[in-house]
Amino acid sequence: MQLKHLFTDEQNALRDMVRKFVDKEIMPIREKLEEDYNLVEEIHQKLVDLGIQKAGYPAPYGGTGPGPMTNLAILSEELARGDAGISLAVGLNGGIVLVAAIFAENKVVMDKFIPAFCGDKLNYGCLSITDSTGGADTENPLLQGRGISTRAKLEGDEYVINGSKSWPTNAGISSVYLTFCNTDPSLGEEGIALIYVPGDAPGLSFGKPETKMGFRTSINASVFYDNVRVPKEYRLAGPGADANFYYLLMACAQWHSVTLALGIAQAAFDIALDYTKERKSGGKPVREWSLAAGILGEMAMRLEISRGAIYNLAMMLDNTEAYGPPFSKEMSSKAAITRYFAADSCGFIVNKAMELLGSNGLSPEYHLEKYYRDAKITQLWLGGQQVALYRIVQGYYDYVVS
Ligand SMILES: Cc1cc2nc3c(=O)[nH]c(=O)nc-3n(C[C@H](O)[C@H](O)[C@H](O)COP(=O)(O)OP(=O)(O)OC[C@H]3O[C@@H](n4cnc5c(N)ncnc54)[C@H](O)[C@@H]3O)c2cc1C
Repeated sequence: MQLKHLFTDEQNALRDMVRKFVDKEIMPIREKLEEDYNLVEEIHQKLVDLGIQKAGYPAPYGGTGPGPMTNLAILSEELARGDAGISLAVGLNGGIVLVAAIFAENKVVMDKFIPAFCGDKLNYGCLSITDSTGGADTENPLLQGRGISTRAKLEGDEYVINGSKSWPTNAGISSVYLTFCNTDPSLGEEGIALIYVPGDAPGLSFGKPETKMGFRTSINASVFYDNVRVPKEYRLAGPGADANFYYLLMACAQWHSVTLALGIAQAAFDIALDYTKERKSGGKPVREWSLAAGILGEMAMRLEISRGAIYNLAMMLDNTEAYGPPFSKEMSSKAAITRYFAADSCGFIVNKAMELLGSNGLSPEYHLEKYYRDAKITQLWLGGQQVALYRIVQGYYDYVVS
């Protein structure tokens, strides 16, 4: 899909800049990055030096943004073509964690947490969503927040938080944790409470970083809340309003998650296209055999349709006056359609790329195995493909939970 004519000059320049950065700084050390987190942090710092981190925050705090969602899509896709774990952390640090506070105009939260992201140093943020009792319950919109098991109780001027989360990215290294809580499940959506927690809050602790098949360049760990007290102003927007932000963040997170899938799929497709040009079978390049060409054709088709859906949604999110608020059931449904198709397509593309490379697909020398490992999580997170399907049908009719 050609996007150049839809992008602004600034967006075309951003895409060129990040593409060049990835080719120069990430591609040559893709495998090494998975073994040494110091190298990952060096890449992050270089991106901070380029102004990427502060581009997610408003000028009064020293930032240069926040830019439209389309900018985030460009950044995330291009970085994920090199390394999806780095791309994910860059998105979180570059505004995803605090964007809700910016929209809600929660000045207390903005004053407290944004300045650290607008300096010259790398700074991490974390979306602490997945309850240890089950991520699908936390994220299933049909449960209207009743499945969130982390509790927040108002005591005087403070919220007291108890519970635990599993797998949040950047856990243990972040200065701020946007924590999905419930004050009282019997209140339904009014009970949903999104609360910002400082990384050094007493009572907050972390598990050991998880060992995992993919996304080895980003850190995941459990987060434990043991009577963690924060000022009541650290709650995002209050009863009812927080529910809208919950749906908004879920829609945007689903969409953002497949900007990463798109970058992974593009990288795998490029590898397969190049490999099958050089590798000969029966005296001619593999890709000139009709069966192989057919496989490449289906990979290309899925890539193109995914890209079209992802950027179309980005532009819809950037034009709420035309398409309505991002927390609507319709937008959540469209985000889930995009997520489901693009994540499954990413899985299809890395799998077929692997077949086209034969046994060399398993060798780090050909780089494909890393993308193959990274691809799977894009189908698993945010409640998995099943919860995405609930979101899809919810946009079309009032679904009754049994
Ligand atoms: C690399 C990585 C990065 C991550 N980053 C973050 C992050 O930044 N922040 C964060 O909070 N979490 C993060 N996670 C966690 C992730 O979002 C959750 O693990 C995911 O949502 C699934 O939750 P679960 O593992 O508890 O599965 P469960 O909720 O236990 O679900 C298990 C299976 O049952 C299915 N299921 C559950 N309920 C239903 C139902 N009602 N109907 C049909 N099927 C159902 C699910 O779809 C799934 O297939 C990350 C995980 C990984 C691996």
